[in-house]
Amino acid sequence: MKSLQELTRPNIWALAPYSSARNEYAGREARVFLDANENPYNHPYNRYPDPLQLELKDALSKVKGVPAGNIFLGNGSDEAIDLVYRCFCMPGVDNVVAIEPTYGMYKVCADINDTEYRTVLLDDDFQISADQLLAATDNHTKVIWLCTPNNPTGNCLKREEVIKTIKQFEGLVIVDEAYSDFSAQPALRTELLKYPNLIVLNTLSKAWGCAAIRLGMAFASEEIIGLFNKVKYPYNINLLTQQQALEALKDPFEVDKWVKLLLQERARMIDAFELLPICERVYPTDANFFLAKMTDAPRIYDYLVERGIIVRNRHKVQLCQNSLRITIGTRTENGELIAALRQYNPA
Ligand SMILES: *Cc1c(COP(=O)(O)O)cnc(C)c1O
Repeated sequence: MKSLQELTRPNIWALAPYSSARNEYAGREARVFLDANENPYNHPYNRYPDPLQLELKDALSKVKGVPAGNIFLGNGSDEAIDLVYRCFCMPGVDNVVAIEPTYGMYKVCADINDTEYRTVLLDDDFQISADQLLAATDNHTKVIWLCTPNNPTGNCLKREEVIKTIKQFEGLVIVDEAYSDFSAQPALRTELLKYPNLIVLNTLSKAWGCAAIRLGMAFASEEIIGLFNKVKYPYNINLLTQQQALEALKDPFEVDKWVKLLLQERARMIDAFELLPICERVYPTDANFFLAKMTDAPRIYDYLVERGIIVRNRHKVQLCQNSLRITIGTRTENGELIAALRQYNPA
């Protein structure tokens, strides 16, 4: 790996971050807060929230098996994705390499940050080759984006190829594990300390059932976390989100129950899809959704919308022609989708 300084934008490396009122006294006991121009009334919403979310990181550390000092919290994973560009990619100069197809935000944030976005097409099994990814890099490639289980394909990327990419690339490798709670494969975040160039993304938006509160995580070396902390908005995670996340983390067994239920439903749904004459194949999945190749995805999509059922039409995505991405819902919701598809008339 190149040195972190070489990989970081010089202005970010040199940046003196905003020092908030709450940063400056940090660590000492205090009773009277007359430093932040807050209103003394309307407790607890009158006070700025903890800018480093230490209590929440402690709780997450236990659940995720990652030390608190290696955790960054963002307003969704989307904040961490954007921060990767803002910290490492010089607009108009640097580039990133990503797999195709994958989660759309990596490209949107590249475009916003005026960073060239290079893609390497997955193979017919939606798998990567480390050699191909590395061949797409040059001296200005700061980041390789991987996503496993991948969205929208659903499958896990081959572990050996992911590790090889991390080991051989001189820059940073981001592995988005938004769906790892649904997968039997071991999560890479637990091997973080072995790889100084690895950033793993997680979110409370999927298995944890908390998409509304917007809480995403990046796990990385303390040095990388320090850069993110320097660049983020000082109070990026509001109090309500911190409180609600702490509440959710008290009951990880609830999440295990949801995951088990969703995986059962997923198996049932895949069986049902495979029997539909309008379904050509269901791709292997390790997530709470699956990709299905249909006879005519755009028409089936429109038909479902008319019946008030929304799935994701991926017809225009490379390698996903005529494919619909189906999220696993409740047993009732899934039943409604299957019933509607059984009534679909292709003629
Ligand atoms: C849904 C999803 C996320 C979640 O993003 P949040 O901003 O945390 O809600 C991240 N990555 C992938 C690949 C996703 O599909």
